Amino acid sequence: MVIPIAKPAIGEEEIRAVTEVLKSGNLAQGKKVEQFENDFSRYVGTKFAAAVSSGTSALQIGLQSLGIQKGDEVITSPFTFAATANAIIHCGARPVFADIDSKTFNLDPEKIKVSQRTKAVVCVHLYGQPCEMDSLTKVCRDNKLKLVEDAAQAVGAEYRGRKIGTFGTVSTFSFYATKNLTTGEGGMILTSQKDIAEKSKIIRNQGQTEQYRHEIISYNFRMTDIQAAIGIEQLKKVEYLNKKRAENARFLTDSLSSLNGIETPFVPRHVKHVYHQYTIKVQKGRDSLLNFLNNHGIGARIYYPQPLYLQPPYVKMGFKKGLCPVTEEICRQVLSLPVHPLLSQKELEEIVKNVKDGIRV
Ligand SMILES: *Cc1c(COP(=O)(O)O)cnc(C)c1O
Repeated sequence: MVIPIAKPAIGEEEIRAVTEVLKSGNLAQGKKVEQFENDFSRYVGTKFAAAVSSGTSALQIGLQSLGIQKGDEVITSPFTFAATANAIIHCGARPVFADIDSKTFNLDPEKIKVSQRTKAVVCVHLYGQPCEMDSLTKVCRDNKLKLVEDAAQAVGAEYRGRKIGTFGTVSTFSFYATKNLTTGEGGMILTSQKDIAEKSKIIRNQGQTEQYRHEIISYNFRMTDIQAAIGIEQLKKVEYLNKKRAENARFLTDSLSSLNGIETPFVPRHVKHVYHQYTIKVQKGRDSLLNFLNNHGIGARIYYPQPLYLQPPYVKMGFKKGLCPVTEEICRQVLSLPVHPLLSQKELEEIVKNVKDGIRV
């Protein structure tokens, strides 16, 4: 038996919706994209949305639409997928890494150090766990910084009863195949500011303000109606899919929290975690537990094995080991177990059994 770390939950509804688009003859950006934008912004609770080709392009466009450019600095977490900081660099700006909180794995607001050049903070709701928004929004307000939420892993998550994606001036989502809501590839920019929404739509479409009038040099970052049709159906299921993830997480935590040597996820009472990943901390022998699980058919993975600033291009930019000691320590401890909504009870029990066996060897 092999239990993968992720599995897209695609049903007949998505297949029917895609078939309909294929038969319509309108395959590129059109009515379905517009409907998906409306549905998605209504679900999260912002006024405007721009659907794009990926979570990465959503981040880049979001930052560009805020005016982030060469000479600017943008503060973010080093404990994230590469796209978060890469998008800052694609805008010509410099990423500045602030260390994380060892319990939530998210940016620690107290570690944020602002300079003359700092223009924005990109916070990442890692694994589906909301960042500490009270203190983060305060830091941004006090220092007149724009807040961008990288909510790629956190669709449906909540902080004090309010949806993640409504706190930043801009928030961005990814619909990559492993994410809680998928369109295969895809992304979304949300905002409640009309000018930012309009600018995002210009940037995603070759800088065009009207057909064949190109105000800026830009890109093709559009989403297709095929993807949007999948997204519309996925959005109807996302609450159910997130509920399944939470139930699976509860089973794992109930079964594993008393084990010596591991720590199950910390979830403060005021947040709703959507478990894009279920990530435990292993104090000693994380890599041997990982190997044991993989050898026994459990698709456990490390997200992420290194702080972003120790990736080769960042080392070349001058970043050095020791910059964010909490992140460096956490990178040695984290282990993500399958938690996706299609897991059966038998598979959940198999995961628990193997963690218990593996932690002893
Ligand atoms: C997936 C992800 C992205 C990038 O999204 P893509 O759709 O793969 O381009 C950015 N940030 C985080 C935190 C992600 O998990």
